[in-house]
Amino acid sequence: MTVKDRVALVTGGSRGIGRAIVEALARNGAKVAFVYNSNSAAAEEVVSALAAEGHEAWAIQADVRSKPAADQVVADVVAKWGKLEILVNNAGIIRDTLLAKMDSTQWQDVIDTNLTSVFNFCQAATMQMMSQRYGRIINMSSVAADVSNPGQANYAASKGGVEGFTRCVATELARRGVTANAVAPGFIETDMTVAVVNLAGDEIKKKIPVRRLGRPDDISNAVLFFAADESSYVTGQILKVDGGLTLGGL
Ligand code: NAP
Repeated sequence: MTVKDRVALVTGGSRGIGRAIVEALARNGAKVAFVYNSNSAAAEEVVSALAAEGHEAWAIQADVRSKPAADQVVADVVAKWGKLEILVNNAGIIRDTLLAKMDSTQWQDVIDTNLTSVFNFCQAATMQMMSQRYGRIINMSSVAADVSNPGQANYAASKGGVEGFTRCVATELARRGVTANAVAPGFIETDMTVAVVNLAGDEIKKKIPVRRLGRPDDISNAVLFFAADESSYVTGQILKVDGGLTLGGL
């Protein structure tokens, strides 16, 4: 899968799945900028670990909820490297609470971080990608878009929104050489899931046909597929990467 010399931007690239995506793109020869929110130590660690391997990555602090920030990040990447070919909208949060107790902040934070951010960065990158007549957009969904988990109405709504958005954008941009796809991870071991894993790790594994939790590189491999030059005929697709969790078998 070829991404060599492509310019990529990954949101939420300082930790977890996003870090694995940054690493996979950089190790395959892309120049990678990534956005983080507040954990600058984690972001710097990603940059220096990749630099030690001889790969280029650039950490940018920005809040993905902000449209002006997204516009600025995209403009900065294009100013530095002259183009933007791969956009991975990965940043996301959970604020799990049953609906009866969910306040407006818990709703809005999740919608803004997980869904509005995808609009912000896609919209900021679209003109550049259309004028290049080349682009690969990959948005991070979740199996929660399809499977009902009590306490995740905000999260499920945000990820369902990401999937519908991805299909629409794919149709709009197809004739300009720009693809848009989404990856829907199952249960992946990151900071986001550490509390649940500590509580119920072995019970969760029993529900997953491959009998293990996912690793961030399970997801980055799927992203690499959508990001590659060779994937020009794949657009509007949602790829579940969940070890069979949602197959509904016995
Ligand atoms: P994570 O380990 O908690 O990392 C989240 C990343 O997003 C961090 O880099 C964080 O930056 C960044 N971020 C959060 N809010 C931001 C904001 N307002 N502005 C800029 N950056 C922000 O999460 P993860 O588990 O890797 O999840 C990554 C994506 O996969 C999310 O979209 C999540 O919904 C999705 N997903 C995860 C799982 C799973 O099991 N882990 C399953 C399905 C889907 P800082 O380091 O600065 O905080």
